[in-house]
Amino acid sequence: MDPYDVIIVGGGPAGLSAALVLARCRRRVVVCDAGRPRNRSAQAMHGFLTRDGIDPMELLRLGREEIARYGVEFRPDVVADARCEENQLVEVVLESGQILRGRRLLLATGIVDVLPEIAGIEEYYGRSVWHCPYCDGWEHRDEPLAAYGGMREATGLALSLLSWTDRITVCTDGRTEVDEECARRIKTHRFPLRTEKIVRLEGQDGRLERIIFESGEPLTCRGMFFNTGQWQRSPLADKLGCCFDENGHVCTDARGRTGVCNLYLAGDANGDVQFAIVAAGEGATTAATIHKDLQDEERAADFERLRESG
Ligand SMILES: Cc1cc2nc3c(=O)[nH]c(=O)nc-3n(C[C@H](O)[C@H](O)[C@H](O)COP(=O)(O)OP(=O)(O)OC[C@H]3O[C@@H](n4cnc5c(N)ncnc54)[C@H](O)[C@@H]3O)c2cc1C
Repeated sequence: MDPYDVIIVGGGPAGLSAALVLARCRRRVVVCDAGRPRNRSAQAMHGFLTRDGIDPMELLRLGREEIARYGVEFRPDVVADARCEENQLVEVVLESGQILRGRRLLLATGIVDVLPEIAGIEEYYGRSVWHCPYCDGWEHRDEPLAAYGGMREATGLALSLLSWTDRITVCTDGRTEVDEECARRIKTHRFPLRTEKIVRLEGQDGRLERIIFESGEPLTCRGMFFNTGQWQRSPLADKLGCCFDENGHVCTDARGRTGVCNLYLAGDANGDVQFAIVAAGEGATTAATIHKDLQDEERAADFERLRESG
C-alpha cells in the first residue's frame, strides 16, 4: 500500500482540524483516535466561535463528518508505538497490530488533568467541578465557588476567579504549609481559607451544593475550580525523543515542529493556551507547515530528477 502523506494521532479539535487542512491540500491522510478527548466529561463547550455551548462530542462528530467528505481515513484505534527516523517513512503500530506508514507524523494527543483525590468527584467533574475559569467561569458568575489546590495554586485560581465572582473560598484539602505571599493575598482579598481535609462533595445530578470537611462546618458552594496539574495523555512524544518544558509540555516551534525528524505536534500537549479553538487553530497551522515541508521535499526531488535526465 502507498504510504500516507500524513499520519495523525489524535482526533480531537487539533487532529481533526489538521486533517481538514491537509486533505484540502490533496494530501493522503489517516487519523488514528483512541476516543478519549480531554473534555469528554463536559456537557457543553464554551468560547468556540459559532459553536459556543455545543456538546463537545457533537463538535468532534461534525469534524469527522467534514474530513470524511475529503476522503480522510479515520481509525478508531490506539497508536501503541511509533518510529520517526531520518530518510525513512514514519511508522505507527496500532493496538490492533496493524502497521501504518507515512511521510510525516503529527501528534495531537492532548493532555489529562489530574483530578483532586476526593471520593465521588467524577460525578461533578464537567458539570460543576472544573479547571478552567475561561471555559466555565461565566456559567458560575456571582455564585459561591471553591478554589482548590495547594496554597499557591488555589490562591492563584481564586485571584483569577475574581473576574467572575467575589464569593470565593480557598480550599487546600489538608495542605497546611504556609506561603507568606499567598497568606498576604488571601488576607487582602478577604478570601475565606479552609485547610481541612475534604471528605466528600454533596449535591444533585452533578451540581455541587456543599463541600464536607473532616472538621468544621460544610461549605456551601455551587462550583469548584481546581489546579492540581496535568500530564501527557500519550507517551509517544517522549518515546520519540521530544523535548519537554518544566511543566511536562512538549516543546515545539511556533509552527508545530518538534525538532525530531518528520514529527510535528499540535493542541493541548504543547501547553500553550488550552482552548479547543486554539487547539484547532494550532492543528491548522501545523498542517500548513507539514504541507509546505512536503512541497519543499517534492520540489527538491523534482529538481534532482530533472537534473539527472539532463
Ligand atoms: C472538563 C473540561 C471542560 C472544558 N471546557 C472547555 C470549553 O468550554 N472550551 C474550550 O475551548 N476548551 C475546553 N476544555 C479544553 C479542551 O478540552 C481542550 O483544549 C481540547 O480538547 C484540546 O484539543 P486536543 O485536540 O489538543 O486534545 P483532545 O481533545 O484531548 O484530543 C486528543 C485525542 O487524542 C487521542 N489520543 C491520545 N493518545 C492517543 C494514541 N496513542 N492513539 C490514538 N489516539 C490517541 C485521545 O484519545 C483524544 O481523543 C475543557 C476541558 C475539560 C477537561
